[in-house]
Amino acid sequence: MAVKAWFLALFMVALLSCGESKYIVYNTTSTIVPGKINVHLVPHTHDDVGWLKTIDQYYVGSNNSIQAFFQRWWDEQSEAVKSTVKHLVSSGQLELINGGICMHDEAATHYIDMIDQTTLGHRFIKAEFNVTPRIGWQIDPFGHSAVQAYLLGAEVGFDSFFFGRIDYQDRAKRKNEKTLEVIWRGSKSLGSSSQIFAGAFPENYEPPSNFYYEVNGDSDSPIVQDNTNLFDYNVPERVNEFVAAAISQANITRTNHVMWTMGTDFQYQYAHTWFRQLDKFIHYVNQDGRVNALYSTPSIYTDAKHATDESWPLKSDDYFPYADRINAYWTGYFTSRPALKGYVRATSGYYLAARQLEFFKGKNKAGPTTDYLADALAIAQHHDAVSGTSKQHVADDYAKRIAIGYTEAEQVVAASLAYLTDSTSKTGSNSSSIKFQQCPLLNISYCPPSEADLSKGKNLVIVVYNPLGWKREDVVKIPIVDENVVVRDSRGKEIESQVIPLLLASVATRNYHAKAYLGKYPKVTPSYWLAFSATVPPLGFSTYIVSSAKRAAGASEKETVYVSDRSQNHTIKVGPGNLQLVYSGKDGKLTKYINRRSSVEESVDQSFGYYSGDDGSVDFQASGAYIFRPNLTYPIKSERQVPLTVFRGPLLDEVHQRVNSWIYQVTRVYKEKDHAEFEFTIGPIPIDDGIGKEIITKISSSLKSNKKFYTDSNGRDFIERIRDYRKDWTLEVNQPVAGNYYPINLGIYTKDTRSELSLLVDRAVGGSSIVDGQLELMLHRRLIQDDGRGVAEALNETVCITEKKCQGLTVVGKYYLRIDPLGEGAKWRRSYGQELYSPFLLAFAEQDGHNWISSHVPTFYGISPSYALPDNIAILTLQELEDGEVLFRLAHLYEVGEDKDLSLTASVELKKVFANKKIKGITETSLSANQERAEMEKKRLVWKVEGSYEEPKVTRGGPVDPTKLIVELAPMEIRTFIISFYS
Ligand SMILES: [Zn+2]
Repeated sequence: MAVKAWFLALFMVALLSCGESKYIVYNTTSTIVPGKINVHLVPHTHDDVGWLKTIDQYYVGSNNSIQAFFQRWWDEQSEAVKSTVKHLVSSGQLELINGGICMHDEAATHYIDMIDQTTLGHRFIKAEFNVTPRIGWQIDPFGHSAVQAYLLGAEVGFDSFFFGRIDYQDRAKRKNEKTLEVIWRGSKSLGSSSQIFAGAFPENYEPPSNFYYEVNGDSDSPIVQDNTNLFDYNVPERVNEFVAAAISQANITRTNHVMWTMGTDFQYQYAHTWFRQLDKFIHYVNQDGRVNALYSTPSIYTDAKHATDESWPLKSDDYFPYADRINAYWTGYFTSRPALKGYVRATSGYYLAARQLEFFKGKNKAGPTTDYLADALAIAQHHDAVSGTSKQHVADDYAKRIAIGYTEAEQVVAASLAYLTDSTSKTGSNSSSIKFQQCPLLNISYCPPSEADLSKGKNLVIVVYNPLGWKREDVVKIPIVDENVVVRDSRGKEIESQVIPLLLASVATRNYHAKAYLGKYPKVTPSYWLAFSATVPPLGFSTYIVSSAKRAAGASEKETVYVSDRSQNHTIKVGPGNLQLVYSGKDGKLTKYINRRSSVEESVDQSFGYYSGDDGSVDFQASGAYIFRPNLTYPIKSERQVPLTVFRGPLLDEVHQRVNSWIYQVTRVYKEKDHAEFEFTIGPIPIDDGIGKEIITKISSSLKSNKKFYTDSNGRDFIERIRDYRKDWTLEVNQPVAGNYYPINLGIYTKDTRSELSLLVDRAVGGSSIVDGQLELMLHRRLIQDDGRGVAEALNETVCITEKKCQGLTVVGKYYLRIDPLGEGAKWRRSYGQELYSPFLLAFAEQDGHNWISSHVPTFYGISPSYALPDNIAILTLQELEDGEVLFRLAHLYEVGEDKDLSLTASVELKKVFANKKIKGITETSLSANQERAEMEKKRLVWKVEGSYEEPKVTRGGPVDPTKLIVELAPMEIRTFIISFYS
């Protein structure tokens, strides 16, 4: 053993003594070289804010990896490190791009949430670094939306927008035609005024193959070995390979600039391993001289593209749906985790209202505030969060954060309402001791304050807050224990109300989930729903008092119809107002929709069905959290002899149908509304047959829709869809259902020469029109296999009441149906759609003895009592900022040409909106409120579009005169302001 060791040592000495190796200083100072192919090397990492691990686990590096989330990391740094980072940012070596709290999803997100989370991030970056991000960087989301391009792109001041995932067929064609990079006009209404340079990467967001250098990475890309004394010396080969990859990318790219994304998920854990190799490549490739390699950023790349003066092809609409290969459509996640999606949507609407109330009282800097909810909602927009594509424990973590934020915001709302209802508040004594309660579990019919026993002289006080800028009337429904109650308005006048029995099906759902969420079964069980119609001023509240009294009338009349073959000719008509739904007595099915006001009469059918999820046994592509891969489709038939139960009353009629042991449906027709409301309770979806199931509802009509239907982009612009067709390429149809699915956040509609058939939704879902005249929504999905895209867990959600007692997730949700004469549907979709996003906020107090109305403020007007916003304008943001200034955002809700009256420019009088304050200053800003609008417009790059496109004239509201203070909004325009007040 000793002899051998001696020999080895000698050999090494010999080697070292005859070589010429020395320390090499790599020249990495290269910049753009005209006339050469310039390879822009952009080092980047992609750290999901929760996916396989929770955001906290990723941050601290538990579960074996070290990730950094910039804001959290930043808060923990010394002044010295902060100063170094600031220097890197100001020198352009480190570029802050995208800049939201997360890289949000683009399918299951609502535009208001996208704006809020981007604003939060952009204002942080502005405050800490005094910079405004220029680049959109949505490299991972699974398809790309029009709203992302124009609203969260151009309108936040981005000059370009880059992404990784587009359909494989689309990508192949674009590579061929050099059209991966385009000018994207996402909005028909705003056209070229909000266009953006948009680039899809040639592959994913990884480096070209063989150029991957993560420490301990599983790639075997050869390092650049430039020690000539070593057998592995490979500089010429590596340079050749680099040049070949550069030329190959240049062959599918316009201009002589190509970008290499040097990194991927969770990279640069030890940054030196990457930078060492990149240094060598730049040094040797530039010595070789065939192409020019340089350290770059997306900004440098964008400016280089712009400087070439090239013309770019025009892109409209969006990049949905996305398939990464044959039979692999990422359209399942449009619906995945419907309860989480519903929770995000409900809290998003609540957050909007809570910020308004926080402003009306004045923000309490010592807390509680709505800030935690803002953070939780921002994180929940991440492309593995609301998308439903994280592991279960991570999804639970998102929901937990929202719940914590909600609980704090609930205190803000309660304190604000206590302040605003207290008649002594204005005089400064502010001794309010009213404790308002709220009922976040109303969706499972659980509301302790409304279930109080009123028989002993107590009264229930309900404050109904309206976050919209319009006066509004809507039916309020709360569970009660005794039907003998009356409802009075703030003048003491008894108003019409109705009681509807709470059925056993609802009680079972209520008890199980109360136990699951609260850890205990409810003590009392309500027997009824109390319904009454509330009328509330814009941005204000009204008060209603419920007290014990013998009911004279208004109890729902119950009619149980046993559906059977014998009553073939029998029909059942439902609806106390203009709208009537007609059901067949034969099988209990909906057959007709009749609106006596608009004279619409249309045959309709509503049914449930399911797709059996493919198990991947044929080609390893199963249906899963991301991917919708249906195998077969099955109708769900009502079990025979099932009664159709109808409750009729003065305010609404309800039709109850138990479709099977795991689907229950209530259809409501209101006296004052021209739409039908469907409430479904689906689950637990049975999987004991070993088959995953994706549950759909279908509304069929006789409309001759000729393959066309329309779905919204993030709840905003509607985009025309044509079945089995893509505008940008000739579609090879291999998945006739999954490949025709689109994300829906607001609604879906179809039309023919006579009518429009529309559905609105209460959360993000997937949907389509697979047959002419028919619309379909996927409401719930439960699957047994993983779909092989990294989550490594089947989408099989359960709800547990003990560690061992679990059942498949039950989802309660709503969708809404209306049929209008052609050209009249937009008014409902837009205005009612906004009401769905911003429902009434209910707060409850108990009062015994003295008269609430005389000792409190029963009606509150947040804006001038004589004023209301125009019907086509919504307030998206009314928020007090840290420094006492106010962030104020208005949106026009209609597109150009959508409605003959409402697709017009409208204006808002700020003096009337802020009637109780005096405006000192107003600045219009970019959408994310991080720079002045005028400054942003001045900096904006102007791009050339290929060919000649005649564009209709784009209108936008004019500048705001600081003395008149009137804001004009053109169709689809959103305007953002920072306002200060005289104190
Ligand atoms: Zn990601």
